[in-house]
Amino acid sequence: ACAEPMPARILIAGGGIGGLAAAVALARGGQSVELLEQAAAFSEVGAGIQLGPNVTRRLKALGVLDAARQLAARPASVAVRDAQDGALLARMPLGDSIERKYGGPYLCMHRADLHAVLLQAAQALGPRIELNTGTPITQVAARGDTVCLGSGSHHAWEGDGLVGADGLWSLVRSRVVEEAAPPRATGHTAWRALARIEALPSVLRSADVQVWLGERLHAVAYPVRGGGWLNLVILAEVQPGGVGAKKQDPADWDQQADMAALLAAIGNRCDGVFPLIEAMPQWRAWQLNDRAPLAGPQEMVRGRVALLGDAAHPMLPYLAQGAGMAIEDAVALAERVGNCDADSLPAAFGRYASARWQRNARVQARARRNGEVFHASGAKRVARDAALRVLGAHLLDNPWLYEG
Ligand code: FAD
Repeated sequence: ACAEPMPARILIAGGGIGGLAAAVALARGGQSVELLEQAAAFSEVGAGIQLGPNVTRRLKALGVLDAARQLAARPASVAVRDAQDGALLARMPLGDSIERKYGGPYLCMHRADLHAVLLQAAQALGPRIELNTGTPITQVAARGDTVCLGSGSHHAWEGDGLVGADGLWSLVRSRVVEEAAPPRATGHTAWRALARIEALPSVLRSADVQVWLGERLHAVAYPVRGGGWLNLVILAEVQPGGVGAKKQDPADWDQQADMAALLAAIGNRCDGVFPLIEAMPQWRAWQLNDRAPLAGPQEMVRGRVALLGDAAHPMLPYLAQGAGMAIEDAVALAERVGNCDADSLPAAFGRYASARWQRNARVQARARRNGEVFHASGAKRVARDAALRVLGAHLLDNPWLYEG
């Protein structure tokens, strides 16, 4: 009889939603994983996150869907309105109907809750996953069949393979893609706020995903934390042309923003959302960067180094699928890697890149296009609104995405 293959040792750089999902998926397949996170403690900044059925089916495959459901809200529908006068343009049911159609629920969660669920699953896998915090990777090298990571001058790790899940400003990316271009500054800013539902006037409470479309901006609100909190995001074009991407200090990438700056940026382009904006206790601003859609599998994998999530394909959040694609990547990677040995890892990584790059590129391109449609003005806006009124749910559904 054949001997069981000796599992590979896989290093993961980054312990965000993508890195933790990859650790859980790979360890469940039998691999031994060491994850290195720069932050002093595992935590997730940010506010809400929407998870379509394509993503929740993957959470089920990772064994965390039940835990996620308990902390999530399950909205009844998505309603699209005009940002100026609040008039309803289209509605699509979510709830039971989308779950029946696509085999997974549509959930809205606080990002910290999803991150905590994945962290708990990683911890439960015990010795198969080693989790390190306070370890910023500063060097990446490949020597023969070994990948080496360095953190400062005193720490080094060796593995048979490396997964770069180190986000938008990925260091690992430079081992896969030889181009110096930084992410693209889109000139779009996301202002985000959270409020307890019970603290809001009753007319502002809603269990739906609500979207308001305005000129050069849109707003999205949905419940999180079992429906107890409302998450509101205003996404606005504030610097036409952009000013060139620059890496922000991690301490201020998620900046405290004052209401006056937000109101100056949105002007009178979304009066229909104003009562909700005014009711929010505190705002944070987040500048949005993306990259051109992936051009081929060579932008996701080279040899023993694979990229995953924002490290590979950062995108505008206008299809609400950035973290979703990171989770899909994680599950797809583990499916290709299985319990293969160190020698088979480059081929398995190659199959992962071939399986994933086109879908990721399509989602990136669609997110950019959604920005143009959501923020349209003049005749384009009139045509868009007419189409939404006539086609409604048909236009809001995304079978290619949710079935995939
Ligand atoms: P990250 O979350 O950036 O994690 C990277 C991790 O790597 C971090 O923990 C970081 O500290 C660590 N790291 C970085 N460099 C190093 C290093 N050198 N050494 C060690 N560790 C390192 N997505 C959705 O699916 N649904 C949504 O509704 C949604 N809404 C969004 C709304 C907004 C306003 C924005 C901006 C994004 C939204 N997204 C959404 C997208 C989503 O946030 C990202 O795509 C997702 O978080 C990417 O996960 P990641 O693990 O790849 O990267």
